[in-house]
Amino acid sequence: MAGITVDGLVKDFSGKTAVNGVSFEVGEGEFLALVGPSGCGKTTTLRLLVGLEAATSGEIRFGDRVVNDIRPRDRNIGMVFQDYAIFPHLTVFENIGYGLRSRRVPGREIKPRVEEAARTFRIDQLLRRKPRQLSGGQRQRVALARAMVRDASVYLYDEPLSNLDAQLRHQAREDIMTLHREKERPTVYVTHDQSEAMAMGDRIAVMRDGQIQQIGTGAELYERPKSLFVAHFIGTPSINLFDVELRADEDRILAVGEAFSLVLPPRLREAVAGHLGRLVKVGVRPEHLHVPKLAPFEVTADNTLHGLVRVIEPTATGSSVYLSTPDEPGVDFVATFKVRMPASYLDQEVPLAIDLDHLHL
Ligand code: ADP
Ligand code: MG
Repeated sequence: MAGITVDGLVKDFSGKTAVNGVSFEVGEGEFLALVGPSGCGKTTTLRLLVGLEAATSGEIRFGDRVVNDIRPRDRNIGMVFQDYAIFPHLTVFENIGYGLRSRRVPGREIKPRVEEAARTFRIDQLLRRKPRQLSGGQRQRVALARAMVRDASVYLYDEPLSNLDAQLRHQAREDIMTLHREKERPTVYVTHDQSEAMAMGDRIAVMRDGQIQQIGTGAELYERPKSLFVAHFIGTPSINLFDVELRADEDRILAVGEAFSLVLPPRLREAVAGHLGRLVKVGVRPEHLHVPKLAPFEVTADNTLHGLVRVIEPTATGSSVYLSTPDEPGVDFVATFKVRMPASYLDQEVPLAIDLDHLHL
């Protein structure tokens, strides 16, 4: 068994196309995070992989075996859902061992495997309990242990952490990565949370309206988004987008916006060559706006923008500052600083230096 290959996958529900031509590969031992807003087709994609839905068209292969017509139980998948789907009337031990028993693994083999999985997830003291005697985090670990005892060839997760609070969620992420490193099987992990996807995925597939917008490492998606949607979806706070007009000025190219006029760096000149005179959007990540005094580059009129400070939010390491272009109401853009901005800056106009090396077009 090698990886998973999904080729041109389509799923129509009477009149509604939930999955619209999805293709991706997951390498042996790779962890792919599938992320996108609610309703974009993530769960449907997983249900097609499991075999709980039949594809309208397209092919799913595990290794070089086409599995489209193979029954779910014969696809050998380890799966963890959002609601854990553990059986309330069975003990923790019976829940973890359920998949082994139903595969007629002999009882003397089941016991040590269940105990080992329970130890991995720190629930070995709870094996005789029933699910209702467990906390949310413990139940979630039962579901993980149940996925772990089986030697599945593929692991699939559908938002398994969304019912946990922030603290437990971090622990559970670690548990899932532990399971993954132990098994080294191809894994598809569905989430609507881009920061979770960035933290966990070897690669990330961003999905929207039934289609994959872009697949790549977190750094690739962050630094080289191929669409406005991906630029906006990845990163928090979101990227700032400004409308600018591209103008030639002697041998320079200017991006002229409402509150600034930037000189584009040479790196971007080729990309704009055919677009002079047009209105386009430029993107700047919040951490690429600097207080001029602290900017790690030379600050000139060609890379400075003015903003009116509307809101200052302290963060663990500094501040998120929400600004508007001068004379405009409301918040237009956001900057994150590694220093605390004093409250005296509220309603003041401040210059901000844009790191043009990280400007997106
Ligand atoms: P996600 O998991 O990304 O939130 P889903 O895969 O659950 O999205 O749903 C994608 C789209 O398909 C949604 O518009 C949803 O309403 C629709 N859909 C999902 N399952 C069915 C179904 N069984 N019948 C009809 N429409 C469905
Ligand atoms: Mg879903």
